[in-house]
Amino acid sequence: MEDRLDPMPEDWRRALAIVAHPDDLEYGAAAAVAHWTAAGKEVAYLLVTRGEAGIDTMEPAEAARVREAEQRASAAVVGVESVEFLDHRDGVIEEGVPLRRDLAAAIRRHRPDLVITLNPHDTWGPGWWNTPDHRAVGRAVLDAAGDAGNRWIFTDLAEEGLTPWDGVRWVAAAGSPAPTHAVEVGEEDVERAVASLAEHRAYITALDDREPAEYAREIVTGTVEAADRTGGRRAVSFQLYPRR
Ligand SMILES: [Zn+2]
Repeated sequence: MEDRLDPMPEDWRRALAIVAHPDDLEYGAAAAVAHWTAAGKEVAYLLVTRGEAGIDTMEPAEAARVREAEQRASAAVVGVESVEFLDHRDGVIEEGVPLRRDLAAAIRRHRPDLVITLNPHDTWGPGWWNTPDHRAVGRAVLDAAGDAGNRWIFTDLAEEGLTPWDGVRWVAAAGSPAPTHAVEVGEEDVERAVASLAEHRAYITALDDREPAEYAREIVTGTVEAADRTGGRRAVSFQLYPRR
């Protein structure tokens, strides 16, 4: 932890965060989202699944309904109004052309400067295997940022009115074991991020004996304190992939 991380770029207006499951953004990235929306930036969320396989004690149809509602509430806490869901199946997301097409369509529709996703790598760090959905989505997001700008890829999207968008300047992966950049977050951002994670009440209740608010505080403060490499400040780290 001796290397200093570069500051995340702040000269942008619109971001689109694309992740596999409800709750993926709330384990840390939401503090950065709170910081950015408080500064007047626009952030939208795109969930590839409704997280229907995420609660052992709940049937998928019910879990999908509950988790979609929890994700919308969670997003609202950090200033995100636009929350969309694709209908890929939780647990068995396939990295491939159909997923890239869906993501390229979303990028063309939202026209973001920054695309945020979750760790696309095999592990979270030595010994901590990542899940197949996170790998598939993270990798497809990195690919789709390019697809969105090429008018000869997915020509049918252009026929539907989704013209190419080559304006993605960076893809930033949260939770990466190889972070390059960080954004410093303030007390208010952290408080909103804690409240945002705590909105996943049914999910957390099935997962942990603690009260959701208590669990969320421990997780989020742990993450923002671990992310900093500049001494005592709270931050959210990202691995940044510049595109231009
Ligand atoms: Zn996940």
